[in-house]
Amino acid sequence: MFKSLKLTFFVFISASMFFYSCTTTTKKDEQNIESTEQKYEWTDCQNCGMPTNDFPNWQVMLKANSKNLAFCAPRCMFIHLADSSNNVATSIEKMEVTDYYTTQKIDGTTAFYVTGSDKTSPMGKDFVPFSKQEDAQSFMQEHNGKKIYSFEEINKDVVVLELK
Ligand SMILES: [Zn+2]
Repeated sequence: MFKSLKLTFFVFISASMFFYSCTTTTKKDEQNIESTEQKYEWTDCQNCGMPTNDFPNWQVMLKANSKNLAFCAPRCMFIHLADSSNNVATSIEKMEVTDYYTTQKIDGTTAFYVTGSDKTSPMGKDFVPFSKQEDAQSFMQEHNGKKIYSFEEINKDVVVLELK
């Protein structure tokens, strides 16, 4: 209960800071309508629609085709990337995933992802990201993980296999 209160408080503070930053933006930003649209896209999960700021320990930020795309968890991002019709996978400019141990944003393209563990994200079975291979290995041992993947190894077949 305390945890959820703390989370609610955190979300409230984040929202307050967001509105505060909106009211103090420079004139240049105010004139840029496109930046307002990007902020909206940055918030809700591109795959499932959940507000990603509610899940700071799982959140993924992706920039592709010059657009900012937010995801509530790696699972939603990999499902989106596996859909070749959106051309996102072939035009990635920047990808930040959240390291499970440090909860810091790390480069998703060089991260190590553990599957099959007993830790679930807001979406269920997931690819749990780590910046260090040693961390991925110790997490896998502690939480009955099945396998460690690099970003390049996670294709459509792997997404289907690991998330079903
Ligand atoms: Zn999602």
